[in-house]
Amino acid sequence: MNRLSRQRIIVVILSVCFAIPVSGARITAQSPTSAPKEEFKFGKADLDLLDQASLLDKRFEREDQVFLDKATNSYLQRVGESLLPSDRNLEHVIWKFRALRDPVPNAFALPNGSVYVNTGLIALLENESQLAAILAHEITHVLNRHAYLQNRSNRKKYLAINIIAAIGAWNPAGGVAGAAIDIIAAISPFILITTMFGYSRDLEKEADLKGVDVMIIAEYPPEEMVKALKLLSNDIEGEQLKFFYNDHPQLKDRISYVTAYLGSKANKTTAAFELHREKTAYLTKIETVSRHDIQLAINSARFRTAVYLSQKFADFRPDSAENIFWLAESYRALGPRSPGLTEKELTDNARKDAAKKRAKLMPEEEERELLATPAGQQNWKNNQQKAEELYLRSLKLDHPVPMAHRGLGMLYEKMGRTREAIDEYQKYLDLASDAVDYGRIQRRIQTLKSSGD
Ligand SMILES: [Zn+2]
Repeated sequence: MNRLSRQRIIVVILSVCFAIPVSGARITAQSPTSAPKEEFKFGKADLDLLDQASLLDKRFEREDQVFLDKATNSYLQRVGESLLPSDRNLEHVIWKFRALRDPVPNAFALPNGSVYVNTGLIALLENESQLAAILAHEITHVLNRHAYLQNRSNRKKYLAINIIAAIGAWNPAGGVAGAAIDIIAAISPFILITTMFGYSRDLEKEADLKGVDVMIIAEYPPEEMVKALKLLSNDIEGEQLKFFYNDHPQLKDRISYVTAYLGSKANKTTAAFELHREKTAYLTKIETVSRHDIQLAINSARFRTAVYLSQKFADFRPDSAENIFWLAESYRALGPRSPGLTEKELTDNARKDAAKKRAKLMPEEEERELLATPAGQQNWKNNQQKAEELYLRSLKLDHPVPMAHRGLGMLYEKMGRTREAIDEYQKYLDLASDAVDYGRIQRRIQTLKSSGD
């Protein structure tokens, strides 16, 4: 890219302000599922944005950000397509619904019809109707060309300030957001800002309310949109994330206007048993992607989220050795932290302090600090004990996971129970001869043996 066009893109893209309403994008009585009546005319800036969207798709694929599980993605595709209007052919739109490997609860649509739902959001939702609510919202952004409208309306206003704020916010706590966000930032700051913070309030409201209509037409109970928004308001990590999908003031606002809008619709409440059946079907479909997400959550120090999600799957299928194993892993990773946050830890000030601390400390440093306190010591004891029980339980179930032996080995090693640690590591190696960490565990055993001599 030459210097001039890069400069131009930066100017084009930096000039976003999501607080400014976009003119010409009012909520109208027009049928929610059809594209805007007048044909959308693509200008140069629109085509540039479209190019960036396609480039992003390629980078996500190339850099392993798309969760490559055929069953998961075809499920998303099926639910997504069921929400599309019959006249779904839009110029420069190819509908693709896929999971993105990122534990932060978020979703976004690119103007070319690529809709991404983060693994962290898929795992958090309770049923297919809630997934449909998220997709209906994102689909509306694409159908009504929101990215282009906002890009056009704000191009000349507001320079670097917003992008600087965005860049400061996207990585406040030692990598809360995954590599996907880095890729977006490198390609399109405009898309970065809309991905993280959403569009203007008017456009977001339009996406929510038309999303409700889209759900009704596709026969999903629309009140599940409110439930999904409430689920997102549940701040498991006590963090100061200002992403659109978990921005609390905005969520409160969304819950109240969607609820009011639903009140004006016919009563569509779905029978409880029907929702229960739906929940079971949904959790079965997302079990694989959720286990993957639990690992991502642990890797990115979202330990309480990992406990919350693995508990959900352990409750769903308590006889699954794999689900119990993930719960054990999550408790072991939790270390000296408490599994849930107290009211006090969830106040605005406490969350601000926690975010600052997280930005300064690595998870290991945070652990050391906590372990120096009586409460941290107590949590550590409780969590280790819980993890041990769970590993042992998972090993007694059908189809046990060899990694449970490795988990026990790590747990015992940390507790100073060296002989048991060696035994468990050895059992792991005996059962998993092709494990990627075979060599590493073998060296662990050697080290432990020689330290015991
Ligand atoms: Zn949105």
